[in-house]
Amino acid sequence: MHIVPTQEDVVALLEQTGALRHGHFEYKNGLHANEYLQVPLAMRYYQHAKTLSVGLSRLVRANPEIRAVIPELSIVAPATGGLPVAYGVCEALRAHQVYWAERENENEPLRFRQYLKQVVDERVLLVDDILRTGTNLTQLKKLVESNGARVVGLAVVVYQPTPQTPDFSPLPFFYLAKLDGIYYQDAATCDLCQRGEALERIWV
Ligand SMILES: [Zn+2]
Repeated sequence: MHIVPTQEDVVALLEQTGALRHGHFEYKNGLHANEYLQVPLAMRYYQHAKTLSVGLSRLVRANPEIRAVIPELSIVAPATGGLPVAYGVCEALRAHQVYWAERENENEPLRFRQYLKQVVDERVLLVDDILRTGTNLTQLKKLVESNGARVVGLAVVVYQPTPQTPDFSPLPFFYLAKLDGIYYQDAATCDLCQRGEALERIWV
């Protein structure tokens, strides 16, 4: 495998570990899709986790503005799914620290642990396993900026855009693989439903 794994390498690794599944899925927000991805299934294995996070860290390090602030850089994840990636990227970069946000329950906003204080002008790289709808990363960016810290970029293992995915430019955005799943707004517009293909409901 290359030092930065190719799109084909990443897809093969995700399929081999059961992290990438093909079929007919219904997400919690009602979207139907022809593929489903659960990166933590691939991150169960130390060697795969290392391959993905070291590859991603190399893309990040190639950015001169970010490379210049690595010793002070905070790696921040919006949820637990991003944690193995965040720790792997932090270790490979030798960045300053890792922490993450979470929410009390689904309807609560993201927040950090008690006593975790961000510093004004702190440089932050947002890291997650996947960018799909962008809800969590958008909220995390707002939370970080509301504390006076500065987001310098975003990095994810897989970019799987949906019609709702926001554009974070001009921030640099790094990903190892892009998956173009086919999404349908609901069952009524879903070709897979029309063809009567068995439906699996996604609960995460
Ligand atoms: Zn369907």
